[in-house]
Amino acid sequence: MQILDGKALSNKTKENLTIECAELKKEGLIPGLAVILVGLDPASQTYVNMKDKACAETGIFSKKITMSPDVSEEEILDTIKLLNNDASIHGILVQLPLPSHVDTSKILETILPSKDVDGFHNYNVGRLVTGNPTLIPCTPLGVMKILEAYNINPTGLDACVIGVSNIVGKPMLNLLLNARATITVCHSKTKNLKEHTLRADLLVVGVGRINMITADMVKDGAIVIDVGINRLPNGKLTGDVDYENVASKCSFITPVPGGVGPMTIAMLLENTLKAAKLSKGDN
Ligand code: NAP
Repeated sequence: MQILDGKALSNKTKENLTIECAELKKEGLIPGLAVILVGLDPASQTYVNMKDKACAETGIFSKKITMSPDVSEEEILDTIKLLNNDASIHGILVQLPLPSHVDTSKILETILPSKDVDGFHNYNVGRLVTGNPTLIPCTPLGVMKILEAYNINPTGLDACVIGVSNIVGKPMLNLLLNARATITVCHSKTKNLKEHTLRADLLVVGVGRINMITADMVKDGAIVIDVGINRLPNGKLTGDVDYENVASKCSFITPVPGGVGPMTIAMLLENTLKAAKLSKGDN
């Protein structure tokens, strides 16, 4: 069994991005990312601070905009419109979830697709589904980069994706489909989950339930990607896979923490750099 070390890969990716940013700076271009945080959710605050820190380390200009939990939808939309027209900002990210009085779809659709570094705008979603180059959601993009770094080619593999959120599962299954894996998609209404997981050469789990994937659900030699992030009562993070008992059955497995999570942030930086380069006409 080999551990898929997302932390090491993310560090390597950030090193390369730092060099690229320095090169761009010589040409007078500093990639800029704006992050909008609405409310006081501690997890969201932590994620935004991590993104801010990663930008600073890489040489990306970052602008953090914090708004109170009762801010009006109008005010968020106006802020996005200003950022859409701000030439120093190449990427705009609205930290989710938003408070219930705000229409999340409306907010995401207001971000200029060329600055949509989360890849959640329907324009970018459509381009991903049709297999065209686009800004791809960071977490599933990070998974694809992990597979690539370890020479795991998804083509022809039986892949099972569990969880179908717009953020994780749906873009993940489209990326794997574009790479011509044969996909089974499971969700909360799937009957007999184990029947599907046991067939999988590649199992990607993004649900948010501790230990939902146990050893008896995993095929011998499978590649297991655990996207889940759950907090244990002792404060430590854990995934959706019973790592202790599943790892020995796998050919490859991502740990939590240190697997997909660090790659998500690295991919946000990569998307911001990509958006900056596109703004000056590079492909
Ligand atoms: P989400 O929006 O709550 O989606 C969860 C998905 O799991 C839904 O599609 C749901 O199905 C499915 N599901 C729920 N119970 C299930 C069950 N018993 N069997 C099979 N599927 C089931 O969550 P999310 O935003 O996608 O996040 C999922 C997990 O990934 C969370 O732990 C989150 O913290 C983590 N995450 C990690 C990263 C990272 O960087 N590593 C990034 C984003 C999210 P229905 O659609 O039918 O309800």
